Order: sequence, then C-alpha cells, then structure tokens
Amino acid sequence: MSSDRLLITVLIGPELARWKASGRAPVFWWRDDDARRPTPALDRLLALSVRFQAPITLAAVPDGDIAALARACRAIPGAELAIHGFRHENRAPPGWPSGEVNDLDHLADVLSDLDVAIGVFRRAGVTPRLFVPPWNNAHSILKQALGLRGVGLSGYGDLRGEAEPDRLDAHLDVMRWKPEPRFKGAVRFLLRTRRLLAERRVKAMWDEPLGLLTHHLDHDEATWRFLEAFLPVARPIARASLNVRSARRAG
Ligand SMILES: [Zn+2]
Repeated sequence: MSSDRLLITVLIGPELARWKASGRAPVFWWRDDDARRPTPALDRLLALSVRFQAPITLAAVPDGDIAALARACRAIPGAELAIHGFRHENRAPPGWPSGEVNDLDHLADVLSDLDVAIGVFRRAGVTPRLFVPPWNNAHSILKQALGLRGVGLSGYGDLRGEAEPDRLDAHLDVMRWKPEPRFKGAVRFLLRTRRLLAERRVKAMWDEPLGLLTHHLDHDEATWRFLEAFLPVARPIARASLNVRSARRAG
C-alpha cells in the first residue's frame, strides 16, 4: 500500500465508517482552476478524471482558448467548464485582499465584464453555470452581478447558506501556496477533510457537497500521486448531478 493510501485509511477511514454506519456517503465534487488552453498537464488531469470516473469542473480563464478547452471537455464524461474570472488579474489596491472586483467598482462595469466572459463561453458552445472568482474573492458586487445573470458562484470553504442558494464552493485545496506552490501534504489535507466530514455528519448535512480543489498547472509529482490515491476514495460526482438549490429557480 502506498503511504498516501495508508494515511487515507488511518486518518479518514474511521470517519467514513461513521457515515457508512448511518447509511450515508459524503458527496464530493471536483473543481480545477486556471485552465487557459489544452496542455500536457491538462491531458494528465483529464486522464485521471477518466481513469477514476471522477467528473471534473474546469474553471477556465476567458482570455484563453475556450473553444479548444470545450472540445477537450466534450471527450470526457461529466467534464464541464466554469468561468474563472474576467482576465484573472489582481486589481486590488495595495493592502486589500487579492481579487478582480473591489469596493471601488460599479455594478454596471462588473456586469459588462461578466457579459463579455459569458459571451466567450457561449461562442465556444458552452452555457456556463458557475463562476469561480480568482483568489476565491467573492465580492458582494460580483455576487450581485452573478445573481442578475443567473450564474452560480464557487468560492472556497463555506457551507452553503440559505442566503446564497446558488453557491457551490470548493473546500479541500490539495496545494499550499506560500512561499511557492507545492503539495499541501497528505496529513494536513486529510485532517482538514476529516474535520469537514465530521462537521457535515454532526450537523446531519449529509448532502452538503465537499469540493476538492486542484490546480493542474501547479501540481508537483507528490500532488499527482496523492490524487491517484484520493480520487477512488472520494469518488466525486458531476456538479450537474449535485443537489444544487438553484434548481428551484428553474420554473
Ligand atoms: Zn486562479
């Protein structure tokens, strides 16, 4: 057994057994950020998705080759594209949290940026359902714009609240980012996973999704190896088959 698999068994095995004893299985979904065009790393990512029958939501930056990414996704069962920002550009004044939208922005300008992004995806034959703000910065003006266009929001780390029915976050980042990107480490990753699983179980939020977050362009070998061990345990399902509350607006 690889050390990753051993750590998975030891660190989250007992928690998964508690779910099973209640007749439940946690609902994982999988988001990957920063795609701009097909690359060898993207091929490797999509191959993992196929191998483990793990549908993936690729958050792609509109200034990339979205048509080529759409073609790549069409070949992969359950793969879909989400919009990852407008230009993936940090516009925050010094000392403010990184992000593309900030307090100085006006809704009309944000809406116009959003419409341009949506248009890029539409021209590639994709109707985008989800917007992933760069740096996971879910600014209130951005949220307003997304609400007006009926596009869901995916940030990082929150339980879905009644107030944000269209929100579907990622929660489990496989990377750590400072001082430079590298694998978070199996123990750190799994302890967080265990904590969030236990939180859902204790609150009886059995259907509350748990989002795995990857960044294929930044993975080191340790990250790729860990994913090979974790994906068959998490068994993520497609975003479209999640119990996303936005369905109630569909009528
Ligand atoms: Zn990004």
